[in-house]
Amino acid sequence: MVERLDPKYVGELMRRCIKLSQIYVLGVSGPYVGSIYLDENQKIIGEGHKKIIDGTGLVLHAERDAFNNIKIGNIPKTLVTTLEPCVNFNLKKRKREIFDPCSELIVNEGIKQVYIQRVDRNPRVRTQGIEYLRRNGVYVEVLGWPSFEVKDVINNVNNEPSTHA
Ligand SMILES: [Zn+2]
Repeated sequence: MVERLDPKYVGELMRRCIKLSQIYVLGVSGPYVGSIYLDENQKIIGEGHKKIIDGTGLVLHAERDAFNNIKIGNIPKTLVTTLEPCVNFNLKKRKREIFDPCSELIVNEGIKQVYIQRVDRNPRVRTQGIEYLRRNGVYVEVLGWPSFEVKDVINNVNNEPSTHA
């Protein structure tokens, strides 16, 4: 059992996720997404954002970018992320993405809890990522959009449609 995060700490982490999401990424269409993994002691061990893999045109989602940035020896238990993790809703739409859906990564890597800023508004995804995680025993908390905790930050964020497609 991984300890739940204090709401204030979640707010701090989400602010950091939003800043990560704003790192300029040439060629990436909105929404910009930022993610942070914590270990069992709630220490940050990996951060990332949605990006294009150099020279490939392929999209790397924030959850996977952050996961790739975890230093060897650290074990992620908690994910904090700005957007509901994707599911394998439509293979054709995923042609620019060579990786498995982030929801599967999260479950397969043994992440115990996920804190999400907002649900994906795309009807093909909306809540399915969350349902997939919960069905597989992951504790999921959705902060909502906009959340009181991050209102001061998101005022400066380009509010694009929140969808992976
Ligand atoms: Zn994804």
